[in-house]
Amino acid sequence: MSESNHQSPKRISIWGSTGSIGTQTLDVVRRFPGEFEIITLTAHSNVPLLLEQARQFKPKTVVVTGPAQQKGWEGDFHRFGIRTLRGKDGLMEAAGSPDADMVVNALVGSMGLEATLAAVGSGISIALANKEVLVMAGELVMKAVRKAGVSFIPVDSEHSAVFQCLQGEKTEDVFRIILTASGGPFLHLDSARFAEITPEQALAHPNWSMGRKVTIDSATLMNKGLEVIEARWLFGIEPERISVVVHPQSVIHSMIEFRDGSIKAQMGVPDMRIPIAYALTWPRHREADIGRLDFNVRNQLTFLEPDRKKHPALDLAYEALHEGGTAPAVLNAADESAVELFLSKKISFIRIPQLIESALKRHQPVLNPCLNDILSADRATREWIAREADHH
Ligand code: NDP
Ligand code: MG
Repeated sequence: MSESNHQSPKRISIWGSTGSIGTQTLDVVRRFPGEFEIITLTAHSNVPLLLEQARQFKPKTVVVTGPAQQKGWEGDFHRFGIRTLRGKDGLMEAAGSPDADMVVNALVGSMGLEATLAAVGSGISIALANKEVLVMAGELVMKAVRKAGVSFIPVDSEHSAVFQCLQGEKTEDVFRIILTASGGPFLHLDSARFAEITPEQALAHPNWSMGRKVTIDSATLMNKGLEVIEARWLFGIEPERISVVVHPQSVIHSMIEFRDGSIKAQMGVPDMRIPIAYALTWPRHREADIGRLDFNVRNQLTFLEPDRKKHPALDLAYEALHEGGTAPAVLNAADESAVELFLSKKISFIRIPQLIESALKRHQPVLNPCLNDILSADRATREWIAREADHH
């Protein structure tokens, strides 16, 4: 029996198509011939890869958000009849046109926030990998999503797991969400040696191959902190009901414990194409030939408490949530800036959470923030971190 449906193709745009999630999304699209039509692809700096993708997937529009490219880069795209847009304005223009059914937001960092709001406002559903959007402005974004009546589907593996476990269930029956964390590359390293950690060591993640920012966030455990905030808004669950357990094998992608003590877990090989495919084909679980779990190979599942002293980033995220208002946006901006400084070897690994903590301490949160409050907290934090780092 043929599995394909005979409806017209689903029209999707992929923002950040040249990144880790973006390229894996195109890989998934390739596995469903004729079922998806690509409307927009965006890159920041990697124009050669964007061109290769454009040749293959024939989008209507491409956007290059990064700084000026080689002169005449547009010509190669125009030859294929593809419209080219530039910069953040270009992204906003593409985001606001209601020509797609779904946007896969695979951008990294704060750049994706306003564009996501623009797409939601145009009635476009979102598959979200770009967790920073919900960390910065979760309440605002989810309000806009409810108002527009669009679907908002998580791509992040933990949130996809929770979303899958919630299918057919009632949120009020949830006792807690249990997010799993791999623990990153330094799970067993003595914290006395954390100061010596180099970017190269931190970029070598044991289970996942990902973009640089999320890989460093996984090493500090800030990634799990950001994911707690992401879960709080996606699922409307109070922070006290979100817990974190370290599970080094990354086979259980997250769990829900219900009021009656029953626990549902979602499992599978650690391959982001599975949650990506689910976001694209929800509510179906379609054959995509990505990977199957072999219990003879992955025959041990272990669990331990996160070491909150060694990884202060996790508690900083809970604190920011507790403070509320603009505090999570400050946490996010401080983290982005600090990770960049670490990657360019301007600060040490242990300075990352220290800088974030100081940024949170000096910030007076604005409660019930509007978009402008959030963006100005973001900007002020980045400026402060840049000055701080210069002084040391
Ligand atoms: P990558 O760094 O691999 O890719 C980021 C993408 O965004 C690239 O297409 C890049 O363009 C583009 N980009 C980078 N900077 C900017 C900017 N300032 N403005 C606009 N576009 C930009 O990241 P990932 O794919 O790893 O991560 C994307 C998001 O998904 C992150 O929020 C991450 O936390 C989340 N995520 C990722 C997972 C993974 O396995 N990778 C797992 C779960 C969540 P270019 O390459 O052309 O410069
Ligand atoms: Mg994740």
